[in-house]
Amino acid sequence: MADQLWETSPHLALRAGPDFDLAALDRSSTPGFTGRKSDGKARVDERGDLLNELQERLFADGRYGGNRSVLLILQGLDTAGKGGIVRHVIGMVDPQGVALASFGVPTEEELANHYLWRIRKKLPGPGKIGVFDRSHYEDVLVTRVDGLVEEDVWRARYDEINAFEKEIVDSGTTIIKVALMHSKEEQAGRLLERIERPDKRWKLSTSDLETRKKWDDYQAAYEDVFRLTSTDHAPWYVVPGDKKWYARVAVTELVTQALIDISPQWPKPRWKPEVQRRKLLATVDPELVDDLVEAVQEQLEDAKAEHGDFLAEKARVAALRQRDNGHRAPAADEQPNDGSAAPTDDEAEPVSSEKKSKKKKKRKKEKKRAQSKKSKKRKK
Ligand code: ATP
Repeated sequence: MADQLWETSPHLALRAGPDFDLAALDRSSTPGFTGRKSDGKARVDERGDLLNELQERLFADGRYGGNRSVLLILQGLDTAGKGGIVRHVIGMVDPQGVALASFGVPTEEELANHYLWRIRKKLPGPGKIGVFDRSHYEDVLVTRVDGLVEEDVWRARYDEINAFEKEIVDSGTTIIKVALMHSKEEQAGRLLERIERPDKRWKLSTSDLETRKKWDDYQAAYEDVFRLTSTDHAPWYVVPGDKKWYARVAVTELVTQALIDISPQWPKPRWKPEVQRRKLLATVDPELVDDLVEAVQEQLEDAKAEHGDFLAEKARVAALRQRDNGHRAPAADEQPNDGSAAPTDDEAEPVSSEKKSKKKKKRKKEKKRAQSKKSKKRKK
């Protein structure tokens, strides 16, 4: 099933390898994406429901003993757009399921410890989506560029970081490493905006201009990061950053795909629904029981329709990755384990958003009709 907008999955289009050539990266390009800005923005919005349900499933799974989590690592120079990714992409899901950590200049206590000490403390727990705004990679970037430690010290860190990330992945966390790489000219424009606009001035730090002077050193340091730490267990996705909308749609897709690969299932309750139902209804006024059951039945129908949409959308997104990678099948083995409300993947048909809203309207109309019938009956 082809995706009209992604002609190549961002996993393939953006992944860095051992020969990665950063100088050759066109910072205003939109690898893999065929659409324009409006398509990109619309696609991010469209992914909201799917991302939300995936995140909620992950969270629920974590509550019931699952060990899976996601860690999105964001790197980039000042004004690269890290904050925008957090707001526009991660902002689409329930904040209760998100663990955001920013890593600035280390405190005295942090400096007294191993550089991974402060990172370990912020790793996402089960069911969480962790987001690192800067990370342990600063310890091979700013540390190297500013000569804060000897060369043999930072050089040894690449292998150490690879081993550290392997440990994290083996414990159940999917790592998505995103580097937002904007051009020097684009950075000048964004910094100037921060200087000129009173509502943006608070974002500018005078050290940003000092860092800008070291642009080339940073590019060299970043290139080594991509070449030496883009592993199979935790690959780097190097995202051209001049078009903010592209970076957002690309990261949205990367995160959605990562959650689909995990395919979190609704946990099975440790209690029997029929027993709990009987106990609950025994506490309700008998005259109200029928109405209550009927109302919940209607909600169930709605949930069933929504669930169908979710599964169809999930299969559609997974198909893009499957097509590019050849070996990655969508999570078609998913069997809803939450009773009869949800159709299986086989039953779920792809539903366009137009069809979806028509279906919703129809359901609403039917509901209204049933309600007015009921109230007429009561009046009689
Ligand atoms: P940002 O620029 O990320 O939006 P900010 O300007 O608000 O954030 P902070 O988050 O307080 O600033 O700190 C970011 C700064 O901290 C960056 O200049 C970064 O290079 C520096 N930094 C991060 N980690 C380290 C480290 N391990 N050693 C030295 N400096 C670091």
